[in-house]
Amino acid sequence: MSKDEEITKNGQRRQDGTIAYSSETEGKRGIIFPSPIFGPVHSRRLGVSLGVNLLPGDGKVCSFDCIYCECGYNKSFPPHQKLPTRTEVRQALRAKLQEMKEIGPNPDVITFAGNGEPTVHPRFADIIHDTIALRNEFFPEAKISVLCNSTRILREDVFNALLKVDNNILKLDTIDMDYIRMVDRPLSPRFSVEKIIERMMEFGNRCIVQTMFLKGTHNGCDVSNVSDKFVLPWIDAIQRIQPSEVMIYTIDRTTPSPLLEKATPAELDNIADRVQSLGIPCQVSY
Ligand code: SF4
Repeated sequence: MSKDEEITKNGQRRQDGTIAYSSETEGKRGIIFPSPIFGPVHSRRLGVSLGVNLLPGDGKVCSFDCIYCECGYNKSFPPHQKLPTRTEVRQALRAKLQEMKEIGPNPDVITFAGNGEPTVHPRFADIIHDTIALRNEFFPEAKISVLCNSTRILREDVFNALLKVDNNILKLDTIDMDYIRMVDRPLSPRFSVEKIIERMMEFGNRCIVQTMFLKGTHNGCDVSNVSDKFVLPWIDAIQRIQPSEVMIYTIDRTTPSPLLEKATPAELDNIADRVQSLGIPCQVSY
């Protein structure tokens, strides 16, 4: 541990401001990000990325509860703070962009991510509006990315806001509802992956599809989605959606569910080849 790090009451605060919880208890492992701004960090997929976290800075809020979530299970990190307001986000983002203008580094991307699902913020559309204005003022060459789990894209305000960003990155781990209930675990019983795919088709090449491939077990059940049983229907959905790009990845950090395993590079490459055979670029993170 570096001398700049400190042990907080509940976890280890790291130099980048995140707090890492590393308990042996299932679900009590995860990373909680500062709010409303964190980083910049170097992202595997996105380059120098300044993070915008629209969720509270002391816990997680998400409309999914993925067993692989790097923030841990929802129930393990309930927030006590409120969501940041639109004004707080705008002021903090302006201050950080001003600082980066003066001392660097220049961001490649401003990324909406953090402690859960950014589109659950009731002012998400307004905050995207503010962010575009600030990006244009300070770093017009920077992209704006939103990592979205897709659960709220049926809402008109969310849909229209996502149309305005450069990288509208939408999660689609599978089209199998049983698998989704076991692995992504939507909170809403009304979640319908077919409706989500139809909405993704309306985005078409204005969206990037992002998919987690993994293996292993959870509560004694096989959670592999790398076999043809899962990949072939998913490829059909990709063909229907016609996104500008597909990003596939596998688990990279400690997961709250302890017996998950990475998909192998060969498995990921094989899936990427199938996407590319549709004429759609596919980025792989191993
Ligand atoms: S959608 Fe993202 S933030 Fe939400 S539980 Fe899944 S991995 Fe975590």
